[in-house]
Amino acid sequence: MTRVTVWSENVHDQKDSAVKAIYPEGMHACLAQGLAEDRGIITRTAVLQDPEHGLPEETLEQTDVLVWWGHMAHAEVSDTVVDRIQRHVWEGMGLIALHSAHFSKIFTRLLGTRCSLIYREAGERELLWVCNPSHPITQGLPPCFELPHEEMYGEPFAIPEPESLLFISSFEGGEVFRSGCTWTRGAGRIFYFRPGHETYPTYYDPNIKQVLKNAVHWASNATTRWPTRLENIPIDKAPRKIDLHSTANHG
Ligand code: ZN
Repeated sequence: MTRVTVWSENVHDQKDSAVKAIYPEGMHACLAQGLAEDRGIITRTAVLQDPEHGLPEETLEQTDVLVWWGHMAHAEVSDTVVDRIQRHVWEGMGLIALHSAHFSKIFTRLLGTRCSLIYREAGERELLWVCNPSHPITQGLPPCFELPHEEMYGEPFAIPEPESLLFISSFEGGEVFRSGCTWTRGAGRIFYFRPGHETYPTYYDPNIKQVLKNAVHWASNATTRWPTRLENIPIDKAPRKIDLHSTANHG
């Protein structure tokens, strides 16, 4: 079983009646329910308002993939928790950053660039084009699919060169965007996926749910967690014998 923690800042969902109407139990609940349709995935949710934002050490130790949605409260996420998430990603926990999480502390920290982009909120049509039909994240999808209403994000997107570019979006207004990108940081696999503005029902869309389920399986790398401990290996514990009397060692 792949263990997923879905995290959301849970602010719009509480304050904005339009968002509440679409996601009455919060965006995190909708995302978790979509993922749980896959029998190989078990989910839990965590929100900004929980103690330690719902992400104490024990929770991250039991998380194969962390899904992150945030927008207006990035600055309220504690640096201690961001440090902890970063260490877990380095050790092999997967991270899926959604939509406005491009500006989250954890995403910009791990990627190391500004991660800025252009945007417009006009409820326009978005087409998502699959760039790599052989990648695990794009399985079960048509070559192109449509979201009738979304916020526009456009290039230039200030990210490091992706290791895989999986989706490009085109928008009604003409802009294009690298909507699905992967990177590796340490042993951790990172996937950024663009759609998911809070005032549209994007996370109910069957193709979007398929991408997220695929992404969870791709990002799960639980068997190869890296140790963080740095060890001195004494001479007598070296895997092969070191001859301290040889000319090579004593010049
Ligand atoms: Zn948005």
